[in-house]
Amino acid sequence: MDRSQQVSTMQKKVIEEGVERPLRASRISELAHAIMRHKKAYYAGKPEISDAAYDALEDELRILAPDHPVLQIVGVGVSTAAAVRKVEHATPMLSLDKTYEVEDLFRWAGDRPVMGTLKVDGNSLSVVYEHGRLVVAKTRGNGRVGEDVTEKAQWIADIPREIDGGLNCEIRGELYCTEENFLRLSDEMAQMGLERPTSPRNIVAGLLGRKVHFELSRYFSFFAFDYIPGGEGRAAPRFKTEVAKFEWLGKVGFSLPHPERLADRKDIERYLEYVKGLIAEDEIGLDGAVFSYDDLALHEELGVTAHHPRYKMSFKWQGQTAVSTVREITWATSRLGIVTPVAVIDPVFLSGASITNITLHNAAHVKAFNLKKGDRIEIVRSGEVIPKFLGVVEAAHGHYHWPAKCPDCGTQLVSDDVRLKCPNATGCPAQQLGAILNWIRCAEIDDLNEKRLVPLMDAGLVSTMADLYKLREEDFLVIPQTREKMAAKLFHNIQASKMLPLASFLNGLGIEGAGRTTWEKLIEYFPGLHEIQGATAGEVAAIEGFAEKSANQIVTGLAARQSWIHELLAAGVNPVAPVGGTAALDGPLAGLQFVITGALSAPRAEVEKWIKQAGGKLASSVSKNTHAVVTEEPDSGSTKMKKARELGVKIWNEQHLKDAITGKGKSS
Ligand SMILES: [Zn+2]
Repeated sequence: MDRSQQVSTMQKKVIEEGVERPLRASRISELAHAIMRHKKAYYAGKPEISDAAYDALEDELRILAPDHPVLQIVGVGVSTAAAVRKVEHATPMLSLDKTYEVEDLFRWAGDRPVMGTLKVDGNSLSVVYEHGRLVVAKTRGNGRVGEDVTEKAQWIADIPREIDGGLNCEIRGELYCTEENFLRLSDEMAQMGLERPTSPRNIVAGLLGRKVHFELSRYFSFFAFDYIPGGEGRAAPRFKTEVAKFEWLGKVGFSLPHPERLADRKDIERYLEYVKGLIAEDEIGLDGAVFSYDDLALHEELGVTAHHPRYKMSFKWQGQTAVSTVREITWATSRLGIVTPVAVIDPVFLSGASITNITLHNAAHVKAFNLKKGDRIEIVRSGEVIPKFLGVVEAAHGHYHWPAKCPDCGTQLVSDDVRLKCPNATGCPAQQLGAILNWIRCAEIDDLNEKRLVPLMDAGLVSTMADLYKLREEDFLVIPQTREKMAAKLFHNIQASKMLPLASFLNGLGIEGAGRTTWEKLIEYFPGLHEIQGATAGEVAAIEGFAEKSANQIVTGLAARQSWIHELLAAGVNPVAPVGGTAALDGPLAGLQFVITGALSAPRAEVEKWIKQAGGKLASSVSKNTHAVVTEEPDSGSTKMKKARELGVKIWNEQHLKDAITGKGKSS
């Protein structure tokens, strides 16, 4: 609809008559300038006035000069055709009661079980479904009237277009932008010639308010937290508990704000610790947690005040913010070779500590915020959470800078758009010290810490992990304040670590993307060092629970560390594979690989156990290495079954499997 149709006749009359002819031209030019300026600000995600105020400017200009070119400009700013439509909320979107005191929270919860969820610092959104189809998405607005953002919502992967056939309901949740997506979005906007957005929080609000570039909303994520059954259509499900509600939300395709049922104080404390950890990671902008009584009958009973529901309580850590100046941006190489920026700032006192350094996460972060020396930045520290960069308050002149070479070894850095990496994995000192420390931890060498290791490295006695095993007792005397007794102890501890579990040995190699449990799992399928080194990425990816990416990381990581493995073995290190672990190596199914698919009469986990105990291996996809596919649905048209038929892989039912295990049938 054309905006001018929405302007009342009365309004039109007032504007037309209120402006004297001679003034008219200057008013038109004033409006045109103001509109252009606000269009630009809008684009940058930094609107200076509300949408309503902006619309009023356009309305006025449209009346005074309906054909003014500024009104026709779509590419730069605001489309005149798609005006923001205001929409009412059938049930008001209330804000939440909040507390900063844990004791308050405990008092409110009493002995009732509650549901804990993350409190995301985003924008609340209501999504309405009619007959199972998304019909309208609206912002919270003032709680009673919001803005129609349906076209934008359709770009968001977390918001299903259709849910559970024929249902009428409203889903509420929080729209936000993850740190990683923010970096990508920032780059895309820069490439489009738009100004880079200022923060993940601001860009969500900024893009929601825009009338163009709906496609940029695809960088947003959505957590669903509420469900309101609708009136007509198929009977909408009613739930008795928050647990059941969230289960259903997840089932119909929504992402969830990490809901967890918390039975008591201890659970709540644990959940708050968990949230604190996520805040420190800073991948999602969180500012606390939300709690609601699990019993939904209680929600009905308690109802709402004019401002907030009585059955929900949000908890926030009292966050203190401060503004400081960046003295310099330093870069350090991590154990895994990632070159990470840190802003050194003029010291500020926040939540009981003097803050001098702020992590800037990764290279793309520096680029996205154009961070450099002299910038005035805002930081926040909530409780004991590590201090966090919030945004630039006042930018200094100039341009951000990325180092070209590794600050530790001078190797040319490589970039994957988000991170800078030193590719010199086995020769970079920063990575070497970290690698040896990781080895010490995994091999459980007592008393040898960083403080003692560094003098050994400085003296040229240790430069690789294998060197540890070549040290003589007297070599340890180079460590300051170390006498014969400690030297003997260190020597002994290192020698004692020569024989170690294979999983510890592999974990000690510090391969990205693989932890101890990864190796333990892999050892079930490849029971020795030799077998693991011989595994291909395809074979690893075929194992249940291994994605292609981690399979590749493992295989290339092992290949890159071949010389370390060789040196360690030559130095007398002896990795020991588990004997008769979870997988029996000499059972009736020894060495045979199986794929399970479709419904079975026994629980799937049970069938997996039979196979493993009989020495068999499980894979998630059918290949020529598959011995048999186990299924009770031999005629199924599933991908796995199609592949099995294509490759001529045997198809066993459960009985056949049991017979093969008990020896009644030949495993043919
Ligand atoms: Zn390096």
